Amino acid sequence: VASKKGPEVVHRVSAKGSNVPPHIDSFQSLQASGVPSRIFANLGSSGYKTPTSVQAYCIPILLQGRDLAAISPTGTGKTLAYLLPIFSKLAAPASTSVGAGVRAVIVVPTRELAHQIHNECLKLAQGRKWKIVLFSKATANAISQNGARDKVDVIISTPLRLVAALQEGILELNNVRHLVLDEADRILDPEFMPQIQEIVAACSHSTLQKALFSATLPAGVEKMAMEMLNDPVRVVVGLKDT
Ligand code: ADP
Ligand code: MG
Repeated sequence: VASKKGPEVVHRVSAKGSNVPPHIDSFQSLQASGVPSRIFANLGSSGYKTPTSVQAYCIPILLQGRDLAAISPTGTGKTLAYLLPIFSKLAAPASTSVGAGVRAVIVVPTRELAHQIHNECLKLAQGRKWKIVLFSKATANAISQNGARDKVDVIISTPLRLVAALQEGILELNNVRHLVLDEADRILDPEFMPQIQEIVAACSHSTLQKALFSATLPAGVEKMAMEMLNDPVRVVVGLKDT
């Protein structure tokens, strides 16, 4: 195993599941998978030249529409591993296509993390008119008052905030195509479990893709996680697969 500083570090990777798609060596090779040129331009502006290991394995899997559980250490670029496929597949902004509504939901354990991911979204989606909402009491109220719930494309939220909005009827998730649970070890904690179940149940579209990302997945949590997923691929980076 080679070792370099920074996100280019070479890791040991295991990818298990049925018909696992091959990993990529470069972002450019994604052009053949129909990733829009705008995305490449935005990767360039962010200074992202080469995919990290978790990106190299997870991006093709998610682009194929597969469910995924990905375990990769902190700082290895998990955010882009799920955002790139989402923004490659997301159809036109909801504001221009009647009744589209929220089509991607990213659930994270803390507001702080939601904020970081929102910033990453804005960089990657630059030039497109998707409405990407960092969900809070204030944005929930604004959506409710403006009757704008069908004009939101992507939501980043903590479990409690999202469930509150569902219960208040501020949001509907029945057209969501991509559900990501980031820092899944914390999200699937017993404390959050009832909320997560409610969110998953609200994402009722038949072509819902579910993906979990985490630095670790303790055995008990892993079992629960795998039960939530449909024919998933399991990618483990940086650890021997035992
Ligand atoms: P994780 O979620 O695995 O902890 P992050 O998604 O927060 O990691 O990314 C960690 C850092 O690496 C961020 O500063 C991000 O901008 C940077 N990064 C991600 N992907 C790449 C890449 N392909 N090339 C260079 N830097 C990257
Ligand atoms: Mg992360």
